[in-house]
Amino acid sequence: AARSSGEAVREYLPTMGQIFLRRFQLVTQFRQALETGQVKVHYQPKVALPSRQVLGVEALVRWRHPEFGKLDPDEFVPAVEAAGLVDALTGFVMDQSLQRVRKWLDRGLRISAAVNLSVRSLDDATFPDRVAAALERHGVPPELLTLELTESGVMADPQRALPVLRALHALGVVLAVDDFGTGYSSLAYLRQLPVDEVKIDKSFVLGMGTDLGDHAVVRSIVELGHSLGLTVVAEGVEDDLARDQLTAMGCDVAQGYLISRPLSESRLEAWLQARTT
Ligand code: C2E
Ligand code: CA
Ligand code: CA
Ligand code: CA
Repeated sequence: AARSSGEAVREYLPTMGQIFLRRFQLVTQFRQALETGQVKVHYQPKVALPSRQVLGVEALVRWRHPEFGKLDPDEFVPAVEAAGLVDALTGFVMDQSLQRVRKWLDRGLRISAAVNLSVRSLDDATFPDRVAAALERHGVPPELLTLELTESGVMADPQRALPVLRALHALGVVLAVDDFGTGYSSLAYLRQLPVDEVKIDKSFVLGMGTDLGDHAVVRSIVELGHSLGLTVVAEGVEDDLARDQLTAMGCDVAQGYLISRPLSESRLEAWLQARTT
């Protein structure tokens, strides 16, 4: 028994070491990756139901790492947050996104951008000023910027999040609660927060065609969301059935592979050209 546990330990330690080393490398290399163009923003369109008009895009970050290859945000955003570097990420994504929105405005298109925030930004009393400065710098009206916060992040300590949420709301930006339905909060509690939009978590939307429970969850979020005056967005819309069911429920906005995958800047432009001409 002693021998086999020794072998288990020998196999385990290098793996832990590798994970730790990789995390350490990612964190130490992150700022330089931002500056050298390894980190890029992709954009996923959001369309109105039932009209399918393009209302906005969600900015989703990607890192093409020279050694590790293409990294999804789930692989590096948590490490970046833990290392206290998330301001640099959010600032970068916000600047890139607002630059796009401004270019569209110059072409007569009103398309908003949604940026994912780290819950850590809600602890930072200076964050709203930086958002205001970015809007001003890019000449973008606040209603064309949406800030997405996860339900679990906001609800972990709503009282603590409230001052920054209020300041952001006062700027006139749109505040969205992301991954809704996965936490333990009630929609009624949301009423006490200055939010404008709920995004139904994709796990429910993906399941609604085959699972009556998921279907019921989606429908009740749409109904209660509307009764609170919120815009309801469904993410993870992958097929016609889901889109049709959401349309029948009165869901306002759809996002998902059915409409488009997240696209690079140039692919998004081509996609928009094909849509809007
Ligand atoms: P999220 O905000 O919930 O973003 C939606 C995720 O669902 C994205 O994954 C998107 O590619 C994926 N998705 C979109 N449509 C579909 C669909 O129809 N089916 C399925 N199965 N998936 C779909 P992604 O890009 O890997 O991002 C993962 C998470 O990383 C995001 O989840 C968000 O929480 C975080 N994230 C991404 N960009 C940023 C960022 O700039 N800052 C911060 N703080 N977090 C970010
Ligand atoms: Ca999001
Ligand atoms: Ca989400
Ligand atoms: Ca998510």
